[in-house]
Amino acid sequence: MIDAAPAAIAVEGLVKRYRSGGGTLDVLRGIDLAVAPGDFVAIVGSSGSGKSTLLHLMGLLDAPDGGTVLLDGVRADDQPTGRRDRLRNTAIGMVFQSYHLLPELDAVENVLAPLLVRHGPLAWLSRRQAARRDAEALLGRFGLAGRLHHKPRQLSGGEMQRVAIARALVTRPGVLLADEPTGNLDADSGAGILDALVELNRADGLSIVLVTHDPAIAARADRVVRLVAGRVEDA
Ligand code: ADP
Ligand code: MG
Repeated sequence: MIDAAPAAIAVEGLVKRYRSGGGTLDVLRGIDLAVAPGDFVAIVGSSGSGKSTLLHLMGLLDAPDGGTVLLDGVRADDQPTGRRDRLRNTAIGMVFQSYHLLPELDAVENVLAPLLVRHGPLAWLSRRQAARRDAEALLGRFGLAGRLHHKPRQLSGGEMQRVAIARALVTRPGVLLADEPTGNLDADSGAGILDALVELNRADGLSIVLVTHDPAIAARADRVVRLVAGRVEDA
């Protein structure tokens, strides 16, 4: 390949082990995975195969025992904590099976939270109006224009997950990491979430890494890889 753009996110030789009760569990034994800009990759594997562990490492939430994580071709896992936090806040969006919304905040305020973290309280004062318009537009795009001021407890599961996706995207990351995002949803709500992800991938070129144990969901991705015994194979 000539002049190939660097992967949006890649891991090389990634190793992770957990020590517990005197024993060692080798969860990831050398994972190589490159996600091109605009690629939609599904990661499947049985329960306990290390899917969440891999996604956490890709999201810089935890450090590997070996190997590297690269964002746009630049090594990210060995950066000091502050810089890693900034990278996570700018380059990566994450969603999980549980929505992790703040219960006291309404939908718009939940979506705005990462921008408040990014800018800090003082700079926030001059930015909040534009940010609020962005957040409202994102929520509108996910069919939540009529739910802007609902608290999480006033929303359905599918609506909460759409708020969580809007929050993940309000910082305009190039990569979305999603860990079983439809795991707590009924089939219809889950399909709606998948439709939203596919649309973000196709229309906006968002790179997506989606962890799922559901083959029907994985089939919506461009590419499926399987985690087996700590390594990836094409599924
Ligand atoms: P998956 O998401 O594929 O179900 P996980 O990545 O959550 O798998 O876990 C992989 C394995 O690592 C499991 O056997 C799990 O029990 C173990 N594990 C995960 N997190 C920890 C931890 N913090 N300490 C010890 N063991 C862990
Ligand atoms: Mg998991």
